[in-house]
Amino acid sequence: MKTKFLISIFLFAISNLAFAQSSGSHALIGVDVFQGESDELQNMTILIEDGWIKDIFPTGSKALNDTVNKINLTGYYVIPGLIDTHVHMGQKRLPNSPEASREEFKKWIYSGVTSVRDMGGDARLLARENQFIREKKIPGPEIYFCATVGSSDMIAKDLRISRITRGIGSDKAGYVIEAKEDLDISESVSMALDSKVTGLKFYAGVNAKLVKALSDEAHKRGLKSWAHFTVFPDRPIEIVRAGVDVVSHVWGAFWQDQDVDPSKRIPFTHTDFKGARSAIFPDDMSLLNTDSQELQLLFEEMKKRNVIWDLTYVVSNPKTQEIYRKYALAASEAGITFSTGTDYFNDTSQSFPSVFTQIERLVEDGILSTRDAIVSATLNGAKVIGIEKTHGTIEKGKIGNLVVLKKNPVENIMNLREIEFTMKAGEIYHRKSFK
Ligand SMILES: [Zn+2]
Repeated sequence: MKTKFLISIFLFAISNLAFAQSSGSHALIGVDVFQGESDELQNMTILIEDGWIKDIFPTGSKALNDTVNKINLTGYYVIPGLIDTHVHMGQKRLPNSPEASREEFKKWIYSGVTSVRDMGGDARLLARENQFIREKKIPGPEIYFCATVGSSDMIAKDLRISRITRGIGSDKAGYVIEAKEDLDISESVSMALDSKVTGLKFYAGVNAKLVKALSDEAHKRGLKSWAHFTVFPDRPIEIVRAGVDVVSHVWGAFWQDQDVDPSKRIPFTHTDFKGARSAIFPDDMSLLNTDSQELQLLFEEMKKRNVIWDLTYVVSNPKTQEIYRKYALAASEAGITFSTGTDYFNDTSQSFPSVFTQIERLVEDGILSTRDAIVSATLNGAKVIGIEKTHGTIEKGKIGNLVVLKKNPVENIMNLREIEFTMKAGEIYHRKSFK
């Protein structure tokens, strides 16, 4: 017994030592720090040890240890690491080409994106890549991912499901849950947990009663509940009342409107793209009315329950974008909390990932102030994933995930692109080394 205890102390000491050596300690001296709601702190020193923010204090007010790596950043600006709350690496790109995926991971981390939430991918591959990233075999952000919950029809026919369960089939994949009446709720959530997911994603064709039963169990076991804003056949407000933490996409809100034909609320799958489109966009878009009483009730319910809207705001069609803008503005006026998911693959011709366009457009279109846009992409993203106790702000005791900028992004949101370096868990990635 005693020997066992001593061995475990010894192993603990070794593992801590290894971690400390690889990460080291850094003092970022003379920086202005973005704090979210309140004004930024000026001329601060941030002390990072073993990957964590050990202290933050006015520069010069405390002595620094000789062994600390001192980085003079006078005139620079620090924000928390950016978070894209809606990516799809695990659905197609990763199963088809790990090499191309790793290029994207690299682009994220060198662009200040320290965490991403993957929304319906192959959990086996995502867990593997995450492990490579953690072991520093490849550069990349922290990857959080989900179990996909869908109707029997979706599980059987959707091409994405067969792709993400290659080699084992959907019935053997703990990260795919078929929404059937006799579902063993506790067993399903256990299997999802075994697949290392952070949340359940309600995709299509799950009724609100089942969404509630699974969400309750997920919450009990420390998982998040994420959903499309509309999970047909039920309406957005019913999905919100079922206890989900986050809803995705602007289009889902359309189906709250009482004027939209309810017979069109069908569980959609991408086996039929036309069907999917008509399920997303009502036939008569002119019926959509952002002043409707129904929509205001939905927003009230979201606010009451602190439900975050992962907008995935930017789309390529200008007409659709204009409708999205109206909904996002109405939600912003109602005080809804947003996160900055993209639902995009990164355009490989661009040197910055698509979350930058997402943040910039929300500001350009008058939906968010620069300050709120940065909070959406940092603290709100952390809340979406459920890691806000350790992520999302620059505070003592939180993880050393941050972005050092040459210019102030509160003055101009385009300054988010003026990156000097990204830090993830105390590890530095210089933008100028990005190739
Ligand atoms: Zn998506």
